Amino acid sequence: MDEYSLLADLHKKNLRQGPGGEAETKRAMALAGLDKSRFLKICDIGCGTGASTLVLAEQLNAKVTAVDFLPQFLEILRQNAQQSGLSEKISTLNCSMDSLPFMEEEFDVIWSEGAIYNLGFQRGVDYLKKFLKPGGVLAVSEITWLTENRPEDLDAYWREEYAEVDTVSAKMAVLEQGGFSILGYFALSKNCWLENYYKPLHSGFEEFLEKNDFSPQARAIIENEKREIAIYKSYSDYYSYGFYIAKKLA
Ligand code: SAH
Repeated sequence: MDEYSLLADLHKKNLRQGPGGEAETKRAMALAGLDKSRFLKICDIGCGTGASTLVLAEQLNAKVTAVDFLPQFLEILRQNAQQSGLSEKISTLNCSMDSLPFMEEEFDVIWSEGAIYNLGFQRGVDYLKKFLKPGGVLAVSEITWLTENRPEDLDAYWREEYAEVDTVSAKMAVLEQGGFSILGYFALSKNCWLENYYKPLHSGFEEFLEKNDFSPQARAIIENEKREIAIYKSYSDYYSYGFYIAKKLA
């Protein structure tokens, strides 16, 4: 199995593939001023198995297009949508987020939890903007420094993992300079990382290793996940995902 298939296999059993929470998705919806009063065309980029997609579809009068490049995740999303009676409101699209087949100004809302880093924040904000109607909402969660003062080894770790990690003010400046007006911001709580994401992920490690006969590739994946969890546990006061909610200016 290639690395992506192994990663998909490890992550697909869980409700979410990154830090987040149902209450946090709803909080971002409220900050965006989204409610059932009008029909919304929404796109959920890097949706994984659809933790946020399902909440958006359930809470809103909407048609949600859920995009991910791993078909294994989308298959589970479709099953979950069916079980929740939401199939009519959700369609899945298996493609890469850097070549989206959409029309300009197609969407009222573009959502993306824990995934825009795959484009890079600056590039992602610029690229996704064109698919939003004027006045449309961009709601994204992005790795963010919670302080200007950080231990050197943490800084080095993130420079290697994702060089664009930055402070709240720097991320907001990217949005503002990119033609957005900030509607709201909050940082994901530790619970979103530990209870909602790392705990279920960790509980699948043994089974994953056994299933893959403790192959070097499988072990490397688990070591990497363990390192990420250990770093988070040591340094959770210094970074989180920031949830940024912004409106495209006309
Ligand atoms: N939004 C989900 C998943 C976050 S994990 C949640 O909060 O649970 C990041 C997701 O982005 C994964 O599902 C991964 O498959 C997807 N992804 C990574 N690179 C991508 C790309 N280039 N195009 C589309 N999806 C991508």
